[in-house]
Amino acid sequence: MIVGLDIGGTKIEGIGLVKLAGSDVYETVIKHREPTNKESYAAFIDSVMLVIDKVAAHGKIESIGIGCCGSVGHDGLMQGANVTVLNGQDFIGDLRSRTDVDVAIANDADCLALSEFKDGAAIDAEQSCMAVIIGTGCGSGIVINQKLVTGSNKLGGEIGHNPLPNFNPDIDGKAVKCYCGSMNCTESFVSGTGFARTFSQKYFEADSKQIIEMVRAGDSKAQEHFDVYCDQLARTLGSIVNFVDPEVIVLGGGMSNVDEIYAKVQDKLHAYTFTKSVTTKVVKNCHGDSSGVRGAAFLNAL
Ligand SMILES: [Zn+2]
Repeated sequence: MIVGLDIGGTKIEGIGLVKLAGSDVYETVIKHREPTNKESYAAFIDSVMLVIDKVAAHGKIESIGIGCCGSVGHDGLMQGANVTVLNGQDFIGDLRSRTDVDVAIANDADCLALSEFKDGAAIDAEQSCMAVIIGTGCGSGIVINQKLVTGSNKLGGEIGHNPLPNFNPDIDGKAVKCYCGSMNCTESFVSGTGFARTFSQKYFEADSKQIIEMVRAGDSKAQEHFDVYCDQLARTLGSIVNFVDPEVIVLGGGMSNVDEIYAKVQDKLHAYTFTKSVTTKVVKNCHGDSSGVRGAAFLNAL
């Protein structure tokens, strides 16, 4: 059984997957959730082990993959995690010594890419897929030659903080400085937050859900804004196609649930690629909120 853990600020979700005999399809044998104990690192590890022990009751664990905020620094210690008791700790080493199996860790976008490549929306892709999360922020991950590309600085496949391609203030609104320090980051436009920010700058305060409702109700301002948003997304994905040319691009996060996005972005994509006859499919994820924990399980299993 391969095990995935999705560690968030409020809950830790665990999943145990077993490959069905004679196929590449994995079946879920156990799912279990516990609240995240953030009082201390020791208490946190105990809550993680509680989930692992519940899952382990359903089969022999071969490997553990973890989807988690933050990353492992060059010194092997955790950094940038919003579960702050994790930072500065040898989390992976501690879990390895307590479970005696391989433990790997990746961020949510990497887990989405793996999950969808393995048995989700990109299952027909033979070698490669890119996953882009358009939610509160914009994270992305990439699978090439059937392997997750994490990169030497753990930045492999990340496009959220590249500048938005072809930024034009007449179309995209005023230039904006991102919290990361760069100007006009892609995340500032194509995330759900960016979608609402640029609308509010142009018209009036509204959140992304309200704007989509207006689009569906036929409001011309909202529709015009939505067209610009789809164009921004097509520019972003077009630059991915030019750079790595994945077989499939899978979208995740809150904005990926807006079904109207797909036909529009697919239509505009070739306007931003070097070759105009691209066949790259832009598709919605299959596993939704479970992508994180499923992708984590596949970290050691590809
Ligand atoms: Zn940025």
